[in-house]
Amino acid sequence: MQVTLGQLLKRVQSYTQNPSDLEFVRRAFEYADEAHTGQLRKSGEPYIYHPMAVAYILADLELDVATIAACLLHDVVEDTPVTREQLEKEFGSEVALMVDGVTKLSRLEFHSKQEQQVESLRKMFLAMAKDIRVILIKLADRLHNMRTLKHQTPEKQREIAIETIELFAPLANRLGISRVKWELEDLSLRYMEPDTYYDLVTRIATKRAEREERINEIIAVLQEKLTAVAIKAEISGRPKHFYSIYRKMTAQKKDLSEIYDLIAVRVLVDSVKDCYGALGIIHTIWKPIPMRFKDYIATPKTNMYQSLHTTLVGPLGEPFEVQIRTSEMHRTAEYGIAAHWKYKEGGKAQGRSFEEKLAWLRQMLEWQSDQKDTQTFMETLKIEFFSD
Ligand code: GDP
Repeated sequence: MQVTLGQLLKRVQSYTQNPSDLEFVRRAFEYADEAHTGQLRKSGEPYIYHPMAVAYILADLELDVATIAACLLHDVVEDTPVTREQLEKEFGSEVALMVDGVTKLSRLEFHSKQEQQVESLRKMFLAMAKDIRVILIKLADRLHNMRTLKHQTPEKQREIAIETIELFAPLANRLGISRVKWELEDLSLRYMEPDTYYDLVTRIATKRAEREERINEIIAVLQEKLTAVAIKAEISGRPKHFYSIYRKMTAQKKDLSEIYDLIAVRVLVDSVKDCYGALGIIHTIWKPIPMRFKDYIATPKTNMYQSLHTTLVGPLGEPFEVQIRTSEMHRTAEYGIAAHWKYKEGGKAQGRSFEEKLAWLRQMLEWQSDQKDTQTFMETLKIEFFSD
């Protein structure tokens, strides 16, 4: 499915009312289109389709227009005679710096050998310290490449899928962008283990109607009880992703038929108080399974994820999982850091304050704490981050 300029502009327009912003995006498109003239993707399509798709992914996360322009231009320096200096003249230093960051990252070689992998991660983090939007572009770039992976040779597919599961999906997770993480994981599995993947897809599909019926029953009961105590809630069934089921099966050495909590329900409410209120009600309707309650509201995950998790014994004796959170927490759960880099009307620097970025970095670094030479990494990072 090809993204058109009209679709992209429409999506951007939905969150910015500034006509000059739209003009900026249009100009970046025209410049990139011209620069990539005659180049083709492996699929045989005009090359410009790729930067358009990447820009759309981030417009969907409502990123600022400088980032959208940088998406459109992200391969121009790498693949065409256009230079960084020219981009800077045409689109300003903010866009030029982001494109430069993406270009540098794409020159990094990734290998699945543990040590080099870690080294690559470090370099990515260093780039992120300068401008986290570079990482967002890189993730969107990888997502579109994964969506179009069928045009690569089987060897290349495997290589890219492994790199995605080892590097890009964990990165998306770390930044809390779970939508992207899940899609990357499922696409990776499809190319790493096609037989397992398609078998799983088929087997899960066969019981879908039955599962949906059970979810609908649970939702109906819960909706009624919550309404009775005046808790306004939006309740939905939540599809489990193939990769997370696969991981559970391999980790616990179980067959799909032995994985019971394939049904999951999400409850979105207006306030933290209602989260705990809803939890209380839920625990009076169904029996909670001991040790499966998690309070990520009181103790958020390092990627800012907040939610209450509980697993209950369902009407037919089968366990099911419930997540309870506010709509605001849900935004963060889906978009992670991207939610915080969102376009803000009138604000020029749409980022967070310097202190906030630092706090973020510290959390990022915790990920490294299990690495042997964290010390060296910390030192390198300090030098890089504070030398700007
Ligand atoms: P726990 O034992 O309850 O912490 O559960 P898991 O870690 O197995 O996660 C259960 C489910 O919670 C996952 O399938 C996700 O839907 C959700 N979840 C857990 N961590 C995150 C997170 O960081 N971001 C988002 N968006 N969802 C998460």
